[in-house]
Amino acid sequence: MRAVVVTPREQGSGRLTEVPDPQPQPGEVLVRVREVGLDGTDVEILEGQYGEAPPGDDYLIIGHESLGQVQEVTAGAEGLSPGDWVVAIVRRPDPLPCRNCAADEWDMCLNGQYTERGIKGRHGFLAEFYVEAPKFLVRVAEGLLPVAVLLEPLSIVEKAVEQIKRIQSRMVWQPQRAMVLGAGPIGLLAGMVLRLENIEVHVYNRSEQKIKRDVTESIGANYICAEEHSFDHELEREIGPLDIIVEATGFSPLAFDAMDMIGPNGIVCLTGVSGGSRTLQIPADHLNLEMVLMNKVVFGTVNANRRHFEAGVRHLQEIEARWPGVLSRMITRRYPIERFTDALQRSSQDIKRVVEIAFPGTQEQKRE
Ligand SMILES: [Zn+2]
Repeated sequence: MRAVVVTPREQGSGRLTEVPDPQPQPGEVLVRVREVGLDGTDVEILEGQYGEAPPGDDYLIIGHESLGQVQEVTAGAEGLSPGDWVVAIVRRPDPLPCRNCAADEWDMCLNGQYTERGIKGRHGFLAEFYVEAPKFLVRVAEGLLPVAVLLEPLSIVEKAVEQIKRIQSRMVWQPQRAMVLGAGPIGLLAGMVLRLENIEVHVYNRSEQKIKRDVTESIGANYICAEEHSFDHELEREIGPLDIIVEATGFSPLAFDAMDMIGPNGIVCLTGVSGGSRTLQIPADHLNLEMVLMNKVVFGTVNANRRHFEAGVRHLQEIEARWPGVLSRMITRRYPIERFTDALQRSSQDIKRVVEIAFPGTQEQKRE
């Protein structure tokens, strides 16, 4: 089959090539891939910054944001039928599971021995087929097909928002106002999930980008451009105290600004990955004092487990019902697999870029 692969840790090694077809083992299903969303992680793997091939292979099939259709179901693969549409969960528990992995909380792995499809030690989905156990596949309704490739990034948001609520159950909490830092897919999806609960949402983005402003405003949120407003207490005075800040840029100084900007009893959720080695001078006494005197919480969150994907399926439906078409507008471009390199070029006109794998569309047309 055709697949987009890299030689891990080798810059510019990304290529479309032929690899052996995956063969489903008992208990697994064969999935035909329809499309794969790309994100910053894929770009960094192609730049050779990280990525790890599966044991025994010298290449890694990339891609972790998937949508596909079940083609074959083997004996022992329960709960799925040929023709079902599925999105795959990305992370797998470590082989000798830690406490959390043993409880299916692989997103909370203690020892870092987990694997991730398309990233760390397991092939990804940017190929014609993959095989997987039903436990790691989440079914999506046919009506969601145009937007279901957003489920993986949405699962990250679902975990973040679930944890915000769980942590804040430490008190009576009725959040009024949230700020999302960064108008990429994670930031905008976070804005949508918070708006579903009628929380006032402000999306802070580094520049004026029409498509991102349009999506923000169409969910009834406020778009703030960093070129016009600094992220400081003057902004806070303008909009009011913030109960929630979701950091989704990975620009680490903003994480510390957020600790300063969050309001009384508020919570800062960090989702952005910063790969550099930037240092920063911070007002340590001030930050510490305010954290203590105002019961502030800061926490980090990564990845997602099955229940977050399932919550995401429900929210995709709710978002579609409340703001029809807004999710489709986030998928700004689709490219055929032959043009995967074009799909990796970031531009200010884009939110989510997706690679399509030519797909006959009917379950009768199985693999030969
Ligand atoms: Zn673990």
